[in-house]
Amino acid sequence: MQTQPKASHFIDGAYVEDDSGTPIDVIYPATGEKIATVYAATPAIVDRALDAARRAQGAWAAMSGTERGRILRRAADIMRDRNHDLSVLETYDTGKPYQETSVADATSGADALEYFGGMAATLTGEHIQLGEDWVYTRREPLGVCVGIGAWNYPTQIACWKGAPALACGNAVVFKPSETTPLSALKVAEILHEAGLPAGLYNVVQGMGEVGAALVTDARVDKVSLTGSVPTGRKVYAAAAEGMKHVTMELGGKSPMIVFEDANIENAVSGAILGNFYSSGQVCSNGTRVFVHKDIKEQFLNRLAARLDAAVIGDPMDPTTNFGPMVSEHQMKIALDYIAKGEAEGARLAYGGKAIDRPGFYMQPCVFADVTDDMVIAREEIFGPVMAVLDFEDETEVLARANATEFGLAAGVFTNNLTRAHRIAAGFEAGTCYINTYNDAPVEAPFGGVKASGVGRENSKAAIEHYSQLKSVYVRMGDLEAPF
Ligand code: NAD
Repeated sequence: MQTQPKASHFIDGAYVEDDSGTPIDVIYPATGEKIATVYAATPAIVDRALDAARRAQGAWAAMSGTERGRILRRAADIMRDRNHDLSVLETYDTGKPYQETSVADATSGADALEYFGGMAATLTGEHIQLGEDWVYTRREPLGVCVGIGAWNYPTQIACWKGAPALACGNAVVFKPSETTPLSALKVAEILHEAGLPAGLYNVVQGMGEVGAALVTDARVDKVSLTGSVPTGRKVYAAAAEGMKHVTMELGGKSPMIVFEDANIENAVSGAILGNFYSSGQVCSNGTRVFVHKDIKEQFLNRLAARLDAAVIGDPMDPTTNFGPMVSEHQMKIALDYIAKGEAEGARLAYGGKAIDRPGFYMQPCVFADVTDDMVIAREEIFGPVMAVLDFEDETEVLARANATEFGLAAGVFTNNLTRAHRIAAGFEAGTCYINTYNDAPVEAPFGGVKASGVGRENSKAAIEHYSQLKSVYVRMGDLEAPF
């Protein structure tokens, strides 16, 4: 497969190169080999992208929602037709197994394009009667929206931000993560092939400085970031300076509570999905697994048996279900946390070692006997490291689950109906799961509370974050004034 893109950037409907920017090597995580090089955007490239977006946006907003939606739905069809190639590229970019990318990346991006494409024609204001007079509201786009992506779901993030923004009549400038710059270019290509007018979806490459240059530019009306909490704090502050709208999809250290009456196999499945999918590099992962002490050993035994069945290997092999980490850097972060966990006295119950083969492979890791104060129970690791903590009492475990600055997701496994809903209501988290974990369909709002974020992606809720209401007051009779 051709992994070197035609050029680094996609601006005003075409590929654009400027090799005077800092080179960014793209590494295939399964081998450590270089598979492409792109160049970070220079100030001139950033300027060109924002200029193109600004120029194109007005005419796009003036089109009917039906027309805009038709283009997005056509792009969704093209993405589905090319799912195989897009999934292979995503696997090269991220190292995630093809078994995952073929069902969770371009397909999820296509879902967003289809969903918001369908919704574009339904976006309206409302009529408010005030006696004989009345007010109507117009739902208007924000203008130019900047999207900044993380490296774990590059295609999905490019579409989750692009689809609602375009549906509402905005133009987009998207900066992928420097670790995974390839697939957003394909999203741009497909959107334009589907009929998107030039300038409405631009992709510029680069590190944090390029993101910062976009966030502080006066031509930008909204910033949507998917990234870590420290980056979120910087980007939110910079956006506030310019009074820009924001969506912040940030990190987490989410809890999963397994009660003694839970179906153990389902709870183990939830813990696997919430800790080891994408080699643990998922923001909403339930990495603090609170297991009732009566079932703890049974849970750990079943978990170990199920982990023994993981197929670790070449991510292109369709039977592989646990691939490498995205980068050597990310693997080192995870291994350093494992060393800290051992030093703090947690019991290493499973795996946790680097695997001696090319690429950035490590074993899935489970710590037992973890206590709330340990670093591995407090900080986001963003790797395949599960912390199992004991509990006995419902009130106590809910308080411990919530005792964190994060609030992205939370899960509960129990067969007690009322307890399940009581716990879901008590969780301080934006996305909660009962007897499941890590589902993220486009139909449901997704996002965090507390330090995990601001705003929601997906669902009807996303429309509120990519449009604004204008109120128009209409007087039907004469107007009285005091003098
Ligand atoms: P990161 O914060 O290092 O980088 C995210 C993006 O921000 C990158 O594109 C980076 O270049 C850019 N950036 C960095 N500094 C910037 C600045 N000062 N101004 C503007 N842009 C800047 O995160 P990462 O390592 O790429 O991704 C992992 C993190 O993302 C984890 O914390 C994870 O939980 C989070 N994440 C959250 C979600 C979600 O939906 N909540 C989804 C995926 C990942």
